[in-house]
Amino acid sequence: MSTIATNIAKVGMRIREAAQAAGRDPDGVRLLVVSKTQPAEAIRAASAAGLRDFGENYLQEALEKQAELADLPLVWHFIGPIQSNKTKLIAEHFDWVHSLDRLKIAQRLSDQRPGHLAPLNLCLQVNVSGEASKSGCEPQDVHELAHAISALPRLRLRGLMAIPEPTDDPAKQRAAFARLRQLQTELQLNLDTLSMGMSQDLEAAIAEGATWVRIGTALFGARAYPSKAAADVPPHE
Ligand SMILES: *Cc1c(COP(=O)(O)O)cnc(C)c1O
Repeated sequence: MSTIATNIAKVGMRIREAAQAAGRDPDGVRLLVVSKTQPAEAIRAASAAGLRDFGENYLQEALEKQAELADLPLVWHFIGPIQSNKTKLIAEHFDWVHSLDRLKIAQRLSDQRPGHLAPLNLCLQVNVSGEASKSGCEPQDVHELAHAISALPRLRLRGLMAIPEPTDDPAKQRAAFARLRQLQTELQLNLDTLSMGMSQDLEAAIAEGATWVRIGTALFGARAYPSKAAADVPPHE
């Protein structure tokens, strides 16, 4: 088996074991392959191994790979920070956005979502760790933002997303994910998605109800330049 196929098998095993340990159906946890910085061939290999959903952080890089891979039936997720001047291309070229944290951006995405496409699936990113440097809206703003976003016509609010502060302590990992789940429950909007858990903490996220885990390193190995998830900026931007 190729490295990527071996890694996919390992990650799949981790997901199944974590789901079983939590008494959950493993099919309720979906794998989002985080392919930022990976070449198009790596995505092609992951697709050949049966994966379909790919997450990208940088618009220009994503558009180039989408063009190269247009022959494949892939589902594209935008998971990076969103500037206003990028919303049009994101609305046109993605199926999901996980990293929404401002109403102004949501309004632009709704206005710019082409009529021939289904409404854009959206997660509201929440800063559950309270660090000033991290993206995501503040927990106290979730209620107002989520209700405003769910009224926009060309968007479909699916749930919440978080990138908690990295820690090796499973109890701390779970506390952050539990916070996100709690915020989602309080919304009472019948949302079906919790986008949480990365290579280091997917078990804790699944224990707390993750429906998407976003995995890069555990599938592809370490990235070429150091990354702190959404906070990183590639050399060409
Ligand atoms: C890079 C990134 C991931 C994947 O992180 P790994 O630790 O490589 O699994 C997940 N989510 C977001 C938003 C990211 O930017």
